[in-house]
Amino acid sequence: MATKKTAAASRKKFLAKVRDRLQDTKAKLLDEIESELRAEREGNKDEGMDTYDLASEERDREINFILSDRERNKIKQVDDALERIEDASYGVCESCGLEIAEERLDAMPFTRLCRDCQQEQEREARTQRRFDDERNTYRKLGSTDADEENV
Ligand SMILES: [Zn+2]
Repeated sequence: MATKKTAAASRKKFLAKVRDRLQDTKAKLLDEIESELRAEREGNKDEGMDTYDLASEERDREINFILSDRERNKIKQVDDALERIEDASYGVCESCGLEIAEERLDAMPFTRLCRDCQQEQEREARTQRRFDDERNTYRKLGSTDADEENV
């Protein structure tokens, strides 16, 4: 028979496990990005820095920036989750305030909604999309200038 106290303790243990996993994920991501950047730098060296002017060097930096954008987003997600573990808001549904099931958090460590609220939200999104589609159809019929505000 699980008392409330042991349930809280097992939740705490679970969250510690999640934190370890997230920190591990982050370390791997940082490793990947670093080796990518190193490969880029070495690539530049091979082509001979003296033929490169400052402008193209800056352009390379910009390309690096774009290349690692996806990874940066991933790291941000991990950081957000770690922060939420620290302030004890992690694993609590943002919509209904109930604890999110551990199996769900295992499968989707970044989720902020419990399954019920997620399904509810997806249903609403589908309804909204249908509504937008209809509105777009009317708009296309009504005017010729195609704006892209709904893309
Ligand atoms: Zn919920």
